[in-house]
Amino acid sequence: MKKPPIIWLNVILFSLTFLSAVILVPWYGIVYGYGASEWIAFVVLAFASGLSITAGYHRLWSHKAYKTHPAIRFLYALGGALALQNSALHWASDHRVHHKHVDDNDKDPYSAKMGFWYSHIGWMLREYQAQRYHDYQNVRDLQNDRIVMWQHKHYLTLVLLMNIGLPALLGWFTGNIAGMLLMAGLLRLVVVHHCTFFINSLAHVWGCQPYTDKNTARDNGFLAVLTYGEGYHNFHHIFENDYRNGIKWWHYDPTKWLIKSLSWVGLAKDLRTSPQERIESARLQMQLLHAKNKVLNLPNADEIIEKIQQEYELMKQHLLEYYQAQKTLLEAKRKQLVDQQLLQQVEELKTRFLNQQKSWKSLTATYS
Ligand SMILES: [Zn+2]
Ligand SMILES: [Zn+2]
Repeated sequence: MKKPPIIWLNVILFSLTFLSAVILVPWYGIVYGYGASEWIAFVVLAFASGLSITAGYHRLWSHKAYKTHPAIRFLYALGGALALQNSALHWASDHRVHHKHVDDNDKDPYSAKMGFWYSHIGWMLREYQAQRYHDYQNVRDLQNDRIVMWQHKHYLTLVLLMNIGLPALLGWFTGNIAGMLLMAGLLRLVVVHHCTFFINSLAHVWGCQPYTDKNTARDNGFLAVLTYGEGYHNFHHIFENDYRNGIKWWHYDPTKWLIKSLSWVGLAKDLRTSPQERIESARLQMQLLHAKNKVLNLPNADEIIEKIQQEYELMKQHLLEYYQAQKTLLEAKRKQLVDQQLLQQVEELKTRFLNQQKSWKSLTATYS
């Protein structure tokens, strides 16, 4: 098959920024050295641009996982230009196709099945998807967002202002324009580029699949640290409208913390979360699959699989009953109709669920 034409602008941009970052940045450091202000600006701008992509481009604009104040959307638009990953409109269009056709080499713009290089950066180096961008069909909703359209229209100007103007201004304040341009401009850009590209490449090959094996997405706590919390990508691909990626409180997900904090001060609302019973059911189903796969080659496999299946059915039943009871209780609380009998019933279902969970855990631990 003939390959589509090369996008020279992107090839030059990515190679030039990468090579300059690995040559010029250390050279300047050895000859002149960097001060604390350059390092601080590097970290602050890395988070500003990275979080604008994850909280803005990704969870807000691509997935509508929450709503936020125009002032925050404006900051996301600036931070997105700083990250130099195309306009929010374009990015979200690609990303929605990625979710809809994940791993489909013909349709997923950065299909992981095309290999690591392609999903990391290769997909941007040739005109693989050019015909798709005529009217941005799948982001019609975003075309009503004035900030998104303003950013799309003035994208190039904003990129130059944010990537050269802002670091130069910071450098002018601190008295070291060149050092600031290299650290907060160049090195920060390249580091954030490749860290966020890891979400399309590494997060589809390296890690575990606790929620689904229907696609290549993986959960990986280490990657979460590099990607502002987007490393819990297996969860994300099944519950894509959830404002969280790391759902446990201890999961490193600064994007989730940012959104939650914004909601506390009234700057974000309607934060969407997936029903807990659906999350647990998905996990349970994967545990069943893993346990079955583990025993396949044992001499008495059929017998063990039947036992595992029975325990799974029980577990699923208790889980659904318990969560249903919790919902009923919540509803009763809302209507101020809670009575002793209902409380006792929920308590009993909870105990039954927890006991079954214990026996399910010990059974699957035996076969894992
Ligand atoms: Zn993905
Ligand atoms: Zn997504």
